[in-house]
Amino acid sequence: MQTRRLGRTNLDVSVISFGGTWISEIDTSDAIPVVRRAFDLGINYFDTARWDGDSETKIGYALKDVRDQCIIATKTGSRTKKESVEDLKNSIQLLQTDHVDIIQLHGIDDEKTLTKAISSDGALQTCKKAQKEKLTKFIGITGHKPQILAKAIKTGEFDTVLVPLNIVTRQAEEELLPTAKDLDVGVLAMKPLSAKTSNLITCTYQPSLSLVSDEPELKALLGQNNKQVIHSLLRYTLSKDIASAVIGLRSITEVETAASVGINYQDLTDIEKKRFNFKLETYCRDCGLCMPCPEKINIPAILRFHSFHSNYRLKNWARNLYTGLEIKPDKCTQCGICQQKCPYNLPIECMLQEAHKKLSFSETNK
Ligand code: SF4
Ligand code: SF4
Repeated sequence: MQTRRLGRTNLDVSVISFGGTWISEIDTSDAIPVVRRAFDLGINYFDTARWDGDSETKIGYALKDVRDQCIIATKTGSRTKKESVEDLKNSIQLLQTDHVDIIQLHGIDDEKTLTKAISSDGALQTCKKAQKEKLTKFIGITGHKPQILAKAIKTGEFDTVLVPLNIVTRQAEEELLPTAKDLDVGVLAMKPLSAKTSNLITCTYQPSLSLVSDEPELKALLGQNNKQVIHSLLRYTLSKDIASAVIGLRSITEVETAASVGINYQDLTDIEKKRFNFKLETYCRDCGLCMPCPEKINIPAILRFHSFHSNYRLKNWARNLYTGLEIKPDKCTQCGICQQKCPYNLPIECMLQEAHKKLSFSETNK
């Protein structure tokens, strides 16, 4: 398994990491061999969270006898000092260890939450105290909004950052990776296989926003079977300036497929670089700052689907996703509220109308 340096932590992390979210949904007797197979294949970074059901318990049990060969990162979703102390205490106990390697502030997705978490009464203070007491070696932060995370790491308080990054979720490349590089903050990429970047995007259309699907356009872009698709997606993410791709894994087959990318990692070929080099000019970054819309129009979702259609040329997939949205831009009253709030000065009203024209089956079928 290839490894990379995780920024200023100087930890050598496997380029493929184990995300613990999904093992909370399977039986312990099935979960333990999954975690263990990951370790046996050279994965040494295990990411879990206090919010992830009993994932910490399963990871702790599976790795107990090899704890010193693993890097274990967990998260606290509590924002105050008092609550996060309890979180960390419970995490360490459930993980059957005497310390974690990284404690991360979980899901910091807006300025208000960031301000609270790093205040004198915030969860960051718990992390700093824990570091002094050797209950954690490093402090990290996670979230879905690269511009918020960039602001957070500029405080100098965080050694690592966990952010979504995949072939159609590339905001971090523009808004976070250069800052992280300058500050030598270790970057971990989550959701390398899913276009869902925040809870702002929900859609009734199945198979939802997974990039590993039977959608012919995704297959044409990424590969004809699931293994090829996963390889393309992980290699894309690993071709960026990051230390490791964190993938939620729940079966031995999934572990073996993901690990094989890290064992035989090869950079993108020139042909792939060309194929994946989509032009992004005027596009929505999914920051969510234009919300809420008084007419309940899901602006970021519609504009993201429009981007899938126009920038990524995933036309049918985008139209299917759009069809799953309940409220369409024809309900827009052109009140102008959203446009005033967009930090990227996007002409949202026009973009929504354009999206509606391109993504409505009735229009496109004319
Ligand atoms: S201009 Fe349209 S989309 Fe924007 S906030 Fe007003 S109603 Fe919603
Ligand atoms: S339209 Fe602008 S404000 Fe709204 S989510 Fe996109 S980038 Fe952010």
